Parts: sequence; structure tokens; C-alpha cells
Amino acid sequence: MPCEPSIAGPLVDGFGRVHNSLRISVTDRCNIRCFYCMPAENVRFKPRREILTFEEIERFTRVVTRLGVNKLRLTGGEPLVRHNLDRLVARLAEVPGIEDIALTTNGILLAEQAGALKDAGLGRLNVSLDALDAETFRQISRRDGFERILAGLFEAQRVGFARIKLNAVAIRGITEAQIVPLARFARRHGFELRFIEFMPLDADGKWDNSQVLSGDEIRRVLEDEVGPIEPLPVGDPSQPATDYRFVDGEGTIGFINPVTQPFCGDCNRLRLTAEGQMRNCLFSTVEWDARAVMRGGGSDDELAELVVSCVGAKKAGHGINSDEFIKPQRAMFQIGG
Ligand code: SAM
Ligand code: SF4
Repeated sequence: MPCEPSIAGPLVDGFGRVHNSLRISVTDRCNIRCFYCMPAENVRFKPRREILTFEEIERFTRVVTRLGVNKLRLTGGEPLVRHNLDRLVARLAEVPGIEDIALTTNGILLAEQAGALKDAGLGRLNVSLDALDAETFRQISRRDGFERILAGLFEAQRVGFARIKLNAVAIRGITEAQIVPLARFARRHGFELRFIEFMPLDADGKWDNSQVLSGDEIRRVLEDEVGPIEPLPVGDPSQPATDYRFVDGEGTIGFINPVTQPFCGDCNRLRLTAEGQMRNCLFSTVEWDARAVMRGGGSDDELAELVVSCVGAKKAGHGINSDEFIKPQRAMFQIGG
């Protein structure tokens, strides 16, 4: 039995930010190839032996919960391609201190797995949907699968997931025509749509500021073409989205604007990559090797010390807009979004 670490939480960084949220990437593999995340072909995935086992993920989670982490999000790559993900959810739901488990998925395998995930204790679901037509979806993802995502969304609602969030990455020159259809679709079916600005985390290294379709621009389009919106009171300040509601009462809309309006000042998030590297930011250029501690026979105290040093080294912000910004070596699918 691992012994209780003597290192105490909460996990506070040098800027006073308390970290209570962990994003766990369960795989770097994916069944599609979104251009803003992965290369089109010949992706180099990590060998399976390098990927954390469910036991290792659970152990890491137990250690960080004792340091104050109470929220988990499973991501990837595409988390639903990891076999028996529902079993991992069930294990994590049993960890004392975990209050909330969420999942971010592209939705392609959701229809098959939604029921088991709900039964296992998954609380919340974010489904990525950048476009409402199959052709634009294929242009972005370089694969088919649009109809399966819709089927997955409706199945998830049917099995009881409430307030499902739709994540739409907005890309100038590609998704302008999707803004209004996505908003109408979300309003009609009770999904909470959030637009996300395109960040420099594409594997092809082609990101350019001119491709960023800002949240403010989208908001103006929605007000002109769908209806007036008004800000909702800020609930949890660490949540990345700025939320609005349509004044007619039908639906909400969120904007995640990491490029034009960075929200690093309230960040409470830590990340664990699929092969067990801790990161204190999406844009970290440094990682802390939790797998080496676990596979090298390290104690829970040593693991906790690693987590504390990772948090302690967190920078004030990502600095995307500064001249000193260094794009991370890893692309989004290798970090876990
Ligand atoms: N495969 C799952 C999915 O697509 O939902 C989970 C992993 S994905 C990396 C997590 C989220 O990051 C998705 O909503 C995706 O659209 C978003 N994302 C990926 N690359 C991005 C980028 N360069 N800029 C902004 N968002 C990005
Ligand atoms: Fe796969 Fe998600 Fe990356 Fe798209 S954004 S390629 S679905 S991991």
C-alpha cells in the first residue's frame, strides 16, 4: 500500500494561484487528424509501454488529491480510443477527494460508449464540433465521421448527460460560415456552445496570428444574426470561458479567447501527458517526469514533491503575444488539450 505523503497542499504557485484541476491525457492516439493539432499522415505515436497504465494514472491521482486536486478532465489524443476508458473513470471516481470527472472527446466513438461512461461516474462531457456540415468537418479533420459525432451527441443526451458543452475551434478562412448554424443547432438541442481561438499548438507549425478568428468577432456576428446576448455572472473565475446567454432565454454561448484575451491570471490547471510527464501549462517548454518516479520505485512523497516543484515553477502567463514566446516542441495531441 502506498503511504500517505507528508507533503501538504494546497498547490499554490509563485503568483498565488491555487491548483485544484488536473487534465489527464490517456492517449496520444486519435481517430481523426485535425490540422490544428496533428500532422495529416505518418504520426509518431508513443509506444504503448511508454503510456501510463490505469494503475499509474490512479496512483498519480491519489497523490494529487491529497494536495488539493478535486477536479479531473480526461483528454488526449482521443480518449475514447483508449480501451476500457469507462473502467478508468470508475477507478478515478472512487478516489477520495475527487468531486468532478469530465471528458473532452471528438465524439466519434461516443454513441457506443456514452452509457458505460455515465454508469462509471463520468460527470461532464465536452464534445468538439467545429462545423455543422460534413464537408467542412472533413476539411478540418482530414477524415470522415461527422454523422457519428451527431449520433454520439444525441446518445449522450439520451443516457442522461446534462449541459453537454460543444467546443468549436474558430479558424479564419474556414469556419466563419459555421458560426450561426452552430449557434442555432446548440440552442435548438440544448447544448452549451463555446468558441475557442486557434492556438499555436498545431503539429505542422503553420499557425499564424492571421488565422485567429477572435471571440469578439464571433460575438458580433452572433448578435447581428442570431440575437442579442448578455454576460452571465462569473461563477468559477478559473474557468477559461466567458459565458453569455441569449437575451430571449434560449441558450448560452461561451468564448475561450486564449490568444486575444489570455486568462492565465486565474489558471488552476495542471496537466499529465499520456506518457506521464507533468506540465504546468499548455505552453510549457519544461516537463516533470512523473513516470520515472513511479517506475523507478519512488515513493508517494517523491511524487508529491515533483508535483509541488512543477507548480512552483509555473510562469505568470503563456506569452503568446510577446516577442519572447517559444512554441512548445509538442503539438496539442501530444500534450492533451
Ligand atoms: N480528441 C479530443 C477532442 O478533440 O475533443 C480531445 C483532445 S483535443 C486536443 C482537446 C481540445 O483541444 C479540442 O476541443 C480541440 O478542438 C482543441 N484544440 C486542439 N488543437 C487546438 C489548437 N491548436 N487551438 C485551439 N484548440 C485546439
Ligand atoms: Fe484528434 Fe482531438 Fe487533436 Fe482533433 S483535436 S486531431 S480529435 S486529438
